[in-house]
Amino acid sequence: MNSVEAARWYFDQAADHIGLSQNMRKLLLTPEREIKVQISLERDNGDIGTFLGYRVQHDSARGPMKGGLRFHPEVDAEEVVTLAQLMTWKTAVVNIPYGGAKGGVAVSVADLSRRELEALTRKFVDAIHDMIGPDKDIPAPDMGTNAQVMAWFMHQYQKYHGFSPACVTGKPLELHGSEGREEATGRGVVTVTAELLQRLKRNLAGSTVALQGFGNVGSFAARFFHEAGAKVVGVADVQGAVWNPAGLNIPDVLKWSADNRGIAGFPGSEPISNAELLTADVDILVPAALGGVLTAENAAQVRAKVIIEAANNPTRPEADEIFQKREIPVLPDILANAGGVTVSYFEWVQNQQHFKWDLARVRQELDRVMVDSFDRVWNIAREKSVSLRTAAYIIGIGRVGRSTVLGGI
Ligand code: NAD
Repeated sequence: MNSVEAARWYFDQAADHIGLSQNMRKLLLTPEREIKVQISLERDNGDIGTFLGYRVQHDSARGPMKGGLRFHPEVDAEEVVTLAQLMTWKTAVVNIPYGGAKGGVAVSVADLSRRELEALTRKFVDAIHDMIGPDKDIPAPDMGTNAQVMAWFMHQYQKYHGFSPACVTGKPLELHGSEGREEATGRGVVTVTAELLQRLKRNLAGSTVALQGFGNVGSFAARFFHEAGAKVVGVADVQGAVWNPAGLNIPDVLKWSADNRGIAGFPGSEPISNAELLTADVDILVPAALGGVLTAENAAQVRAKVIIEAANNPTRPEADEIFQKREIPVLPDILANAGGVTVSYFEWVQNQQHFKWDLARVRQELDRVMVDSFDRVWNIAREKSVSLRTAAYIIGIGRVGRSTVLGGI
């Protein structure tokens, strides 16, 4: 099953439950617009680099479309369509007034100089600026992009459209960014994990955690797990994983990773492979890097008691079925990692109002959204005897479907 078929499979599980007609399924799944552009730039060595950039605007029934911008070699049209759909259901699950979109450029950021990265970002904006904007489609950081990239993005957009900080979120604090945006996805992940464990009559404090991915999402999730008293025993990044059964000192790992451009070689840990990390004997497994890492091949070996999808699309349907049979709860991406888009929404609200919130307010509002959304998903899952993922999709599809019909087809 490719990623589009996998997204369709998850969608259909919920659509069957709510008796959605084939007509509505086709309408809700078809993206409103798919954009593919050429980005060419002069490389530092005088060569010409040509890259493909994508933006998929999936659905705007509930508001302007929202979704990250990914710079990664594996970005392609199919993946961006899948991720844009996920954004539509995600914004609906946490009930923020947005639709869904996603974008990306097929490029390895590690191979670009800072000047080349800036040029690539600005050229991408040149190509798509007419089709995005604060009331149309608002990008944000994702894999391979960060606050600096968002700053260049905003600056270039403003050359065409004048002052409009709400055209993109995840900006630096000095340039109309929001307090708490960088930590938001990781914080949300830990908030909903705590809620899940409470329902399962387990404690987060003392639970063991393995995390794949130590970028924006993974590193903040690790920090909040550590602060909550959980024992983070393994973390992985693209170069490999480190393991310490007594628990890794996360503040030290963060410092080591920043100083050494990766976690490999962290003192007092043993190296393990990414594959070993995913099947390690832990209470909580958190994929927080790439999609498609939990598969038919490794699902039977996974020993975690719960799986928290901090990454987008980490679980293939074949693996999801195995986890359901084995009664391993999977907290789905469209809920688990929705903290990022939620604080992106807060940033957009602040930009529109020219009024800044402090960190305490951002955290309080985020925690409320995540806890309320978790409650609703948990209750539907119990009422209808479905998985947490199907429950989340029932809520998401239901909200988007009702807005679509109320607006008129
Ligand atoms: P990032 O670029 O900041 O970090 C990615 C991390 O994954 C890095 O530590 C990298 O080394 C690691 N990685 C990359 N390839 C790997 C591989 N093959 N094996 C193991 N580790 C690998 O990205 P991010 O923003 O933290 O995003 C991570 C995931 O979370 C993505 O799936 C993204 O779509 C999702 N997500 C991000 C946000 C956000 O706010 N940034 C919000 C929601 C969902």
